[in-house]
Amino acid sequence: MGHGYFPTADSPAANLNTDEQVSQRVRDLKAAGYDGIKLYTMDRDLMAAMMDEAKKQGMRVMHHVGVEETNAWDDIKGGTTSIEHWYGIPDAAIESGRQNFPAGYNYNNEVDRFRYAGRLWREADPAKLDKVLDAMVAANVAWDPTLVIYEASRDLQRAQTNPAFAEYLHPVLEEYFKPNPANHGSYFIGWSSTDETFWKENYRIWMKAVYDFEMKGGVVGTGEDAGFIYQMYGFGLIRELELHQEAGFHPLKVIQHATANGAKILGKEDSLGRIRVGYKADLIVVNGNPLENFKVLSPLGVEEIRDGKAVKTGGIEWTIANGVPYHAPTLASEIKTMVAAARKVRTGSDSDWVLPTSACLPETVRLHLTHATVWLHTLVRNDETRHFPSHS
Ligand SMILES: [Zn+2]
Repeated sequence: MGHGYFPTADSPAANLNTDEQVSQRVRDLKAAGYDGIKLYTMDRDLMAAMMDEAKKQGMRVMHHVGVEETNAWDDIKGGTTSIEHWYGIPDAAIESGRQNFPAGYNYNNEVDRFRYAGRLWREADPAKLDKVLDAMVAANVAWDPTLVIYEASRDLQRAQTNPAFAEYLHPVLEEYFKPNPANHGSYFIGWSSTDETFWKENYRIWMKAVYDFEMKGGVVGTGEDAGFIYQMYGFGLIRELELHQEAGFHPLKVIQHATANGAKILGKEDSLGRIRVGYKADLIVVNGNPLENFKVLSPLGVEEIRDGKAVKTGGIEWTIANGVPYHAPTLASEIKTMVAAARKVRTGSDSDWVLPTSACLPETVRLHLTHATVWLHTLVRNDETRHFPSHS
């Protein structure tokens, strides 16, 4: 269920049914050199066994806490490093302990799943939610809400008409985004004004919860979960920053979410996330002030009036990762060329263009997109925080 799609060749899906199998899997991952684990859709008892073993092995654990048996209370008990996304947080605060989904609800039908997820936050009892957030803070469970990846649910047209698509949307992704029950996250079949209205309310409650969580002392991180639901790598992250601002955070706080907090979640606050002697030189040089406008981070740039004339400015000029400088506009134009070439192949006469049959993108495309990710993302150690084994 859920993210069953994500296991890859070097990290195949595991069919784990006993405590011993789960513990062995954790030891195997440790032996293979992994620092952490991302888990989802696990039964409660197995999750507890996994958390136990992860603790013994000194591995950090992130929980994609979906609509499933476990919820934020399991993360609080087990000492999860970070919760990704959100579902298990309102779930943990529902008075009756079960969601008020219609009788015909089918978790494996994504139209159902995402439609009714949009009616989940309203079910959380505010007083109980407060307790959940307090307990997360006390147990040191961080929260990476990935606000951006659900945004199409509250405003489909906005998501579908992203101006960056014109030059940066690879045709594989373009095809993948089209409504299609076979593709994870491509659930916009009959998406209605009512769905968007519920999702807008969902966001209001959710954003307030994220804000309250930090006010209570919680650690908020940033992630984008791009590659699905009309979100492109890097561009999604910039939008994530804007949504954190919309949630009520000062832009300085937002940048902290994307830098120092990300490092903290990784347990690397001694070498990453700050500008400091002895730290890794992961920096971006930007034409503009992100505190004023996060849009200056976009390769599309922004318009400004100078001497009475509209001029194009903005964009990241240099990305310095691990001390190596990359000229961002050059990388951006390489990506544009790549996308244009792929589109030509698609429309060309020898149109043996084959779409991926699974939810996974072909490895080559993934690499290109990751390449794009590097220059847009170094601001955040997002790849590491979000992509432990078996989720990409
Ligand atoms: Zn996830």
